[in-house]
Amino acid sequence: LVVLSKVNKHYGALHVLQDIDLRIAQGEVVVLIGPSGSGKSTLCRTINRLETIDSGTITIDGRPLPDEGKELARLRAEVGMVFQSFNLFAHKTVLENVVIGQVKVRKVPRPQAEKTARELLERVGVGAQADKFPAQLSGGQQQRVAIARALAMKPKVMLFDEPTSALDPEMVNEVLEVMRQLAADGMTMVVVTHEMGFARSAANRVLFMADGKIVEQNTPDAFFTAPRSDRAKDFLSKIL
Ligand code: ATP
Ligand code: MG
Repeated sequence: LVVLSKVNKHYGALHVLQDIDLRIAQGEVVVLIGPSGSGKSTLCRTINRLETIDSGTITIDGRPLPDEGKELARLRAEVGMVFQSFNLFAHKTVLENVVIGQVKVRKVPRPQAEKTARELLERVGVGAQADKFPAQLSGGQQQRVAIARALAMKPKVMLFDEPTSALDPEMVNEVLEVMRQLAADGMTMVVVTHEMGFARSAANRVLFMADGKIVEQNTPDAFFTAPRSDRAKDFLSKIL
């Protein structure tokens, strides 16, 4: 579904993505881990064209990433992204946050968009909060609204960049549970996270990045019990 081929990116002298080759199948859940600064966020952001690349190709469902305009807006809708900070529209209600993209980008009639929004808010467990404003919700609730908002665009793939790292510990699980459910429902997902429990239980594959390269990839079981590279061993010894 998502194919990256020989992708390179620099920030000035820093070679932040180095010859990245990656194929993500429909329904696959890929967890991306690695030390700070290894390029995990940058890799995620290139997949929905928040970052340009210097060379290589990225295709989604067989189509290359568009450069600009309407095509790019459509791509952004097809590639849902959830960040560490929830980025909800503060002056709009929870319901409106989930409605607006459907109406503006997907051209869904408002009544239908509202129906979909209410269903999605129920699904992520915040149906009762629909008429509140984001600031009236807990961090965990806001992040679940952000997930519902992305899902409302009917994405083909969802990218999560440390979706729980800004949350109080007691809210982490409610968000991970929504993500686990999404994975079980067959959503294609790329997840940058430090939650190794989630990686073990929900990932089909773990990618370990260091210095702009995918150093190692394996099933979670194999990766966590027997990492092959010294970089991965060293990383795991620090976090586990
Ligand atoms: P973390 O775990 O801390 O989130 P990461 O693996 O997500 O790290 P990236 O955010 O992808 O890492 O950053 C990779 C490298 O690129 C870092 O050295 C970072 O300082 C650098 N970098 C990121 N964004 C920019 C930018 N806009 N301009 C210049 N350098 C950048
Ligand atoms: Mg990052």
